[in-house]
Amino acid sequence: MKIEENGMCRWGRRATIVVLLVIATIHFLRRPAPNVPTLAGQTQLHGFTVVIDAGHGGEDGGAVSPSGTVESGINLEIALRLDAILGLYGADTVLLRTEDISLHDPDAQTLREKKASDLHNRVEMVESIPNALLVSIHQNTYTGSRRYHGAQVFYEDEVSSRQLAEHAQEILRQSLDPANTRQAAKLSGTVYLMEHITCPAILVECGFLSNPEEDALLRTAAYQTKLAAALASALLSHVPMAEE
Ligand SMILES: [Zn+2]
Repeated sequence: MKIEENGMCRWGRRATIVVLLVIATIHFLRRPAPNVPTLAGQTQLHGFTVVIDAGHGGEDGGAVSPSGTVESGINLEIALRLDAILGLYGADTVLLRTEDISLHDPDAQTLREKKASDLHNRVEMVESIPNALLVSIHQNTYTGSRRYHGAQVFYEDEVSSRQLAEHAQEILRQSLDPANTRQAAKLSGTVYLMEHITCPAILVECGFLSNPEEDALLRTAAYQTKLAAALASALLSHVPMAEE
């Protein structure tokens, strides 16, 4: 979404985001969730740097809803909010992209080459960060039916990431939609980035752009903030399995 089309300046938008973040944080801190640390509490990220990947970007917009919503923009909005909320807790974070761009090398020419280069570079960026924990943010779509909805968390590596994925799935269910019966699921080599990185990682499909109600919800700043707050809560309350 272009800021100018809303008639809202960059600072106005930032102020809105800050207000929403404060509301979301107060909301979560008031909930009786003993695992969620307070602002004054110690970060429970166990030395991890949370690498936040807003999926797609630039010419590669990802999935597109029937209303014309492009996935890459929603991914970025949620990623920026997740970064801001984790920052409030003093967590170390790295955003792979902060604007609507592809991360390909300058010599990539075709869209296919740019996409391949972008994914290769994302892998290299993640791999270069010590003690990384990757959260890749995407939106789902289903061709042929508009009824599917609900956030779902995916993982590739059983040992390092399954527990976090299941924990995040449960927090998303509790926070956003108690009727969401989706389970955390293994990707089994179908997503290049997830297959090629070696750190703990989850990929979050926040909702279905092919579902008109969820598409409308995902476009709102309030729901984007709620998603980010739920993910932050999941990360901060995650207790990794002890190393063998
Ligand atoms: Zn995607």
